[in-house]
Order: sequence, then structure tokens, then C-alpha cells
Amino acid sequence: MLDAGSGISNLSGVGEAAARELKKIGVEKIRDLLFYFPFRYDDFSRTVPIADLKIGENANIIGQIELINARRSPRRRAHITEALIRDKTGSLRAVWFNQPFIARQFSAGDTISIAGKASEDYGGMAMLSPFYEKAGAVIHSRDKIAEKKPSEGTHPYFHTRGLVPVYHLSGKLNQKRLRSLIGRVIYLAEKIPDWVPPEARGKKYLSLPEAIRLIHFPRNQKDAASAKKRLAFQELFLVQLRSQMARREMDLSLSHRLKFYEKETREFVFGLPFRLTDAQKKAAWEILRDLEKERPMARLLTGDVGSGKTIVAAIAILNAVLNGKQAVIMAPTEILAKQHFETFGKLFSGMDIKIGLVTSSEKKMNYESPARNEPRECGVHCGRIINNAADFDKTGGRKKKKPITHDSLFIIHNSQVIVGTHALIQENLHFNNLALAIIDEQHRFGVEQRKTLIEKATAMGIEKKFAPHFLSMTATPIPRSLALALYGELDVSIINEMPKGRKKVLTRVIPEEKREAAYEFIRKKAKEGRQVFVICPLIDPSDKLGVKSVKEEFEKLNQLVFPDLKVGLLHGRLKPREKDKVMEGFSSGKIKVLVSTSVVEVGIDIPNATVMMIEGADRFGLAQIHQFRGRVGRGREESFCFLFTDSAAEKTLARLKAVETESDGFKLARMDLELRGPGEVYGIAQKGFPELKIASLFDYELTREAKAAAEKIMRIDPSLSRWPLLKREIGEWEKSTHME
Ligand code: ADP
Ligand code: MG
Repeated sequence: MLDAGSGISNLSGVGEAAARELKKIGVEKIRDLLFYFPFRYDDFSRTVPIADLKIGENANIIGQIELINARRSPRRRAHITEALIRDKTGSLRAVWFNQPFIARQFSAGDTISIAGKASEDYGGMAMLSPFYEKAGAVIHSRDKIAEKKPSEGTHPYFHTRGLVPVYHLSGKLNQKRLRSLIGRVIYLAEKIPDWVPPEARGKKYLSLPEAIRLIHFPRNQKDAASAKKRLAFQELFLVQLRSQMARREMDLSLSHRLKFYEKETREFVFGLPFRLTDAQKKAAWEILRDLEKERPMARLLTGDVGSGKTIVAAIAILNAVLNGKQAVIMAPTEILAKQHFETFGKLFSGMDIKIGLVTSSEKKMNYESPARNEPRECGVHCGRIINNAADFDKTGGRKKKKPITHDSLFIIHNSQVIVGTHALIQENLHFNNLALAIIDEQHRFGVEQRKTLIEKATAMGIEKKFAPHFLSMTATPIPRSLALALYGELDVSIINEMPKGRKKVLTRVIPEEKREAAYEFIRKKAKEGRQVFVICPLIDPSDKLGVKSVKEEFEKLNQLVFPDLKVGLLHGRLKPREKDKVMEGFSSGKIKVLVSTSVVEVGIDIPNATVMMIEGADRFGLAQIHQFRGRVGRGREESFCFLFTDSAAEKTLARLKAVETESDGFKLARMDLELRGPGEVYGIAQKGFPELKIASLFDYELTREAKAAAEKIMRIDPSLSRWPLLKREIGEWEKSTHME
């Protein structure tokens, strides 16, 4: 007997090869199949007489096959299958490429149902590569739905009528295969227990089994919308519940009171090469006020890319250190962690502050004095501490260099400021004197990771837990009210002002015929000494880090387009050593053009880079493009952002055009949602919120309801012990919201 927990290979027809393909998209059990939601639907709800077909419109046709045959095209060596299909009103040609088996599945006289876009065909009508299935074939899962609620709109078609689900695919899987598999097991959705307690759900939302069934196979838009609503609700409900639980925990904790060292802080700020903006001052002030309290700070610092959050963090760190305590800052990528390490090294130069770096490739370290703040490496595996005044003897002379390798534990115990990546929480590390924990680009971390970092520093006192002050920073554009609704446990500071003198980045969608001109422009800029980013999207989803596409682009640019310029390549699979080399080459100006995956999206700060070129821009969310764009326009030079796309669809172009005129990240995120329309299950690619796959940041009403529901649950039983399913789900969910 199959159940949701059965392995996928228990399904007949799923052999080893298929199981491997499914595993690539994270499907190992039947349950995973049920939870593999479509991201949109093809709308074939119009079944049209052939005579009424209009060119360019999606439609379903049901007719009889008059003729069908497969042949090889002489020149292109492709298989071509052609069928002439007739209904009462007319006839139409259907053409498929390289699927010779279709001709074996059908014969003249069969009734066939096809769906696709009609095109002109020598004066007649045709459909190229339409979806197809035998008409009248009985497909049990559709029947299941029909059994449940026999209403208009139900029909035994799977691939060609109604709203047909479209899934993210990878490798050799195809839509039809995946859809059929899900169709075969959809009846098991019935047995998925609903973990949202009835107290929270009320009568307003579908049950989980119903939502699962309808998200895959809705009879109409209304079905799809209610299923989506229920699934979005449960995501928001979990966020809210988690957030309220965290708040409760914090209310039970104590923290170090950190005195505000006013004089030293002023000196530090005056020593900067720029003046702080008013918004930066205000945010820093709010943070410093929090640090003085006995209750741990829990604050979210938001500000658009380039608004200068790092320096605000530095002010808080400085005060923690002056209080004789440690501060830690965790960043989502190694590149960013290293950049922070260097930045803090420079900011705190001349002060007696030890800064350590912990990343997974630097488990060991080199205890080495940097005379001019230059961290030194001692081989592939080394962590670093810089600014270590202990390396100087009393007379100011330099002690004999003695490189010692140490592990991360040593770094943690011997640095006052610790910069690192996930390595900080993956290791069996504990901080002993930590008073301030900061997470940069917090949206790139899962809830569980944020929690772990805090727990690493949490000690049990006699009565209360001892927790560090906690600051998380993000450039996710989000208005205050929404931030509060989503992260109820956090106070919010917003930097809503850019440093003076920032120029707008001139942004253009570049049509293909102007590509050469754009390259010429880039060459000119490079010759003037400027630098360029080229971002490539991830094309094959099984190639999670986008290595394949970025390599191809690199080869092209390096050999064909810019043989005269130094081109660099950056992606997540490079060895840390190689990554460093590339980043160093780029920041020193040696590399002129950096071809990269989206790893540069977060945080990277290279003021001399003035051109951002984005390939396949339609594959990114507008807010994400805005983040990329934030990598340029940081210096005094005029900066440019060029968007390329293969898509000629008007809708896509209109969406991208929005980035040309709008420079507010939040407005862009909202526009993205509106322009893509409600037909999609997944809203904008909400990179910013790993917790939210279906719910949108702009679902104010739903957010409010989820919040009320979570409050109700917390009122009834904050330990959740009366809802074991919910308790388990909270645990599972925390695990699953880990990024990467
Ligand atoms: P983000 O908020 O995106 O993390 P950063 O902290 O990286 O931004 O700052 C972006 C750049 O702006 C850095 O080069 C930083 O030195 C600079 N910067 C920060 N604050 C100011 C300011 N008040 N005036 C001028 N430049 C500033
Ligand atoms: Mg930053």
C-alpha cells in the first residue's frame, strides 16, 4: 500500500534513472511530490472550434485525426511528426519535432485533444509542438476530484484542458511526466494531516489536503486562488508563530549592559572619510540606546543597498569592544565575510582591536602581525587575525614573525571582533564573552541559523538565560509596518537616505541589435580605467550555482569580445583560494570585467566598478536586479546598468523597463508582483524571504490574519504541546528554510 511516506520508486514506472532525476528537484518520497507545487498554470480553459481559433492565443482543440505520420527532415536530420486534425468547423495541422513516438500512439480516426498557441500556416492554422493526449481517456486522479465535487469544469484531461500546472524542472524530467506522476498520487493528499490547528485556521481557509489537491489541479482560477491563499496563510502563520515564540524567549533573557563610550565614538566618526547621514546617525543612536539596556536588543536594520549599514554596525561593534566584550558578525558568503574583515581592519586601524576571520576554508589560522593592516595568509587553510597589537613589543618594534596555525576556536577566544560565514554556526563553537551578534544580509539566512548564532552565545544563568544583543541587517526593501508585522519580535531601524553625492545609475534595457554597441561602450569605459560586472542567470536548475552558464559567458567574453581586456570569472564552486584571487584582482583593478553568478548580489563594495551588465535579466526579480545595480554607482563616476533579455514578450519588456525609471527597491518589488499578475503561484522570486515561497510580502490582509492566529495559539498554549503536529512542523520548517 502506498502512502505519503513511501519512496518514489514504489510507483510503478519509476525506475532508478527517474528516481535520480526526481531527486535533483528534491523529490524522494511521495509526500515530496505532493508538495512540489507548480509555479504557474497554462490556461487552456477555452476549448475552441477550429474555425474560431485566433493566431497567438492559447486554446484547447478537440478533433479527429485524419492523417498522422512521422518522417525525417532531409536537411536538419530531425524527426517531424505531422497530424491533420479536423473538427466540425475546420482543420488544422499539428507539428511535433523529435517525438516520433507520437505517430505510434495515435492512428487516423482517433480523437485527440491538443493545447497550445495557434500560428499561421500557409494561410491555414497550425499548432507547433502542442501538448496532446487522447481525448476521453479516463485519468483516475481527475476522477477523484470529480468524485469529490462533481461540478462544472471537471473533465478527464490532464495536459490539454483547463488550467494545466507548470512545474520547475531539471535534467531529463518533462512537464508531462511530472504532471502524470503527481496526478497518480494526488489522491494521497487526502491523508496529509493538517498541522494548522483548527483554532488558528477557522473556517476561512481550505484544509491542507484540499489545498494540495487544488494547487496542482484547480478546476478554475478560483480554485487556484483559494489553494494558494491557504498555502500562503500557513507560511505566514509559521513566520508569525516563530517570531512570537522568539519574543517570549527573549523576554526571559538578560544581556550585558554596554556603556556608550561617547568620546571614543565621536573620535571614530570624525576620523571617517565622510560624514554620516542623518539616517545613519539616528539608526546608530537607536542601537546604542538598546545596548545600554539589560534586556537583549533585537533589532532589524534595513536600508537600501549602498545606504551605509556597515558603518552603523561598526559603531555598535566598537562600543561592545570598548566595554571589554566581543562582537561577532556573520555574512552569507565568504567573499562578503572577507570584505568585512578587511573593512573593519581599516576602520579600526591604529586601535588595539583584534579581528578574526572564520570561514569554512579557514578553520586554521595564521597568527601573524600585519604591519600595515595587511592580513597575511599561510597557505590554503588559514584563518586570520589582524590588528593584533600583541604582535608588537612594548617599544613599538615588531616581534619576530612567527606564523602559527590555529583553529577557529582559538580565533574566537582571541579576537574581539569575529567576522565569519556559516562556519561560525556549523562548528562546535561557543563564544565565551560575546555581547553583540550581528547578521548581515539576514534574509539570506534561515531562521534556524539566526537562532543558532544567538544560542552559541547564550549561557544559562541561575534564573534567566544570558543572551547577546542581536542586530540583523538587510537591504530587502520593506516598509516599517510590514517589517513589524513579519518580524514582530524585532524593533526596526530604517536608513531611508543615501549618502550625499550618489548619482542615479543610468539603467537601460538593451535590444539585441545594440549588443555590439554596448560592448564597445564597455571597452571604452574599461580603457578609461573603470570596471564592469557581467551577471549571468542560472539557466539549468539542476546546476544550482549557475556554473555552466557563467563559464560559457566567460569564455565568450574573454576570447571573442574582449580579448584585449582582462576578464575574470567568479562563481560559487571556485575554491576559496581562487575566489580570493579573483576578488583581489577585481578590487585592485587588474581585472576589468568580472563575469559572475549572483554571488555578487550581496554586499560587495567596489567603488571603481561603474558598469553592471545583466544577461537574461528576465530571469531575475526586479528587486534582485535592483540589488545588482546597487553594486555600481558607489563612487563619483557616472554609472550604468544594462539589461539584456532573450525574451521578446511585451509583458517581460514592460516589467524590465520599470527598472529604468524607478530607483526605489521597495516600489520595484511591489511592481514586480503587480506586473507578473496574480496568475502565478509563486510571486516574485522572493530571495529576501526564504520562509515565504508562496505568500507575498504584500499580502497585508493575510499577514494580519496570520498574526492574529498566531497570537491566539500563543494565548491558548505557548508550549504548543497540545498540537504535536504543529510543534513538529515548526521544527521541520526551521530546517527547511536554510539557504543553499
Ligand atoms: P550597505 O548598506 O549596502 O551595506 P555599505 O555599508 O557597504 O552599504 O556602504 C556602501 C558604501 O558607502 C561604502 O563604500 C561606504 O564606505 C560608503 N558610505 C557609507 N556611509 C557613507 C556616508 N555617510 N557618506 C559617504 N559614503 C558612505
Ligand atoms: Mg552591506
